[in-house]
Amino acid sequence: MTFKAPESLPMFFAHAIALERESVERYGELADVMDIHNNEPLSKLFRRLAGYGEQHAAEVERLAEGFDLPRLAPWEFKWIDSEGPETAGYDGAHYLMTPHHALQVALENERRGEQYYARVADETLDPEVSRVAREFAEEEGGHVALVEKWLQQVDKPRADWDLDLDPPQQPE
Ligand code: ZN
Repeated sequence: MTFKAPESLPMFFAHAIALERESVERYGELADVMDIHNNEPLSKLFRRLAGYGEQHAAEVERLAEGFDLPRLAPWEFKWIDSEGPETAGYDGAHYLMTPHHALQVALENERRGEQYYARVADETLDPEVSRVAREFAEEEGGHVALVEKWLQQVDKPRADWDLDLDPPQQPE
């Protein structure tokens, strides 16, 4: 997998929409896990971050109006890593996931988004792509800072955080 910055707005938009939609989905899952834990503040935070992704995707779709966006197969996307920038490091909704773990997944999400947009801004030869990507990188940077602030406020998990003493009841 070699990264290659998009050299046209339609190619960039196709990537940005995929990235944001996947992020929205991921945050939905994280919020659901926090609901199971009755952790309302974190559930709200994740739904808020999902909302930012939603807004971003809608904004990109607006910008993309009038362009013919390429329909890319999953393997045709050029991400920095093999997975989408905002999705890696997460292997399913572990119902025991602590707030600390969930926030770390969120932080990774936002950092990867920021890195993707920043790298596109740095490397693309298309000045319009660069300009829009730079704007997005700055917004993602704001989300990184927000999640970092939350991370400082939650307790670090104990070493035995995944020891399941009181498993939730399975519905009959
Ligand atoms: Zn974000």
